[in-house]
Amino acid sequence: MKKALYPGTFDPITLGHIDIISRAVHLFDEVTIAIATSETKTPLFPLEERIRQIELIFQGNKNIRTIGFTGLVVDLAKKEGVNILLRGLRAVSDFEYEFQLANMNRAMSPDLESVFLTPKAKFSFLSSTLVREIASMGGKLSSFVDPIVEEALRKRFQD
Ligand code: ADP
Repeated sequence: MKKALYPGTFDPITLGHIDIISRAVHLFDEVTIAIATSETKTPLFPLEERIRQIELIFQGNKNIRTIGFTGLVVDLAKKEGVNILLRGLRAVSDFEYEFQLANMNRAMSPDLESVFLTPKAKFSFLSSTLVREIASMGGKLSSFVDPIVEEALRKRFQD
């Protein structure tokens, strides 16, 4: 069984992330979305809420799992018995960081292979950071996030 691990902060998950996941399910038998606690980034949504949002979005997709984690992705991959790491590449600006990360991960875990997918062009400008900013200013988010996330953001910035 071909399994892939898709790690990230997903604060919140955007249609860009979802685009990558929907491509990956055609390539792998199981895709595990691994949500990092990312305490240093002081996320807008606590880990449990990010997990809940993603579980709701992919409800009924038996080959998509959602888990939370802290620590190194290489350790998680070993624990989960996965040797494919999935990441998204939006533009050249992502490349340098992703290249560095892939090489560091390879140095720590030579058998772990990084695989990169690109989203539809219309999502290549989309980031969780911009989504949070637009939400904080009351902007319309329906072209950028799933309705579940849109509602969570609305609630978050209304209170
Ligand atoms: P991290 O904190 O690990 O960068 P993110 O949640 O920001 O976590 O991103 C996780 C992965 O998804 C990264 O590989 C990132 O490049 C990719 N990604 C983020 N936004 C998009 C998007 N709009 N389209 C495709 N891939 C994306």
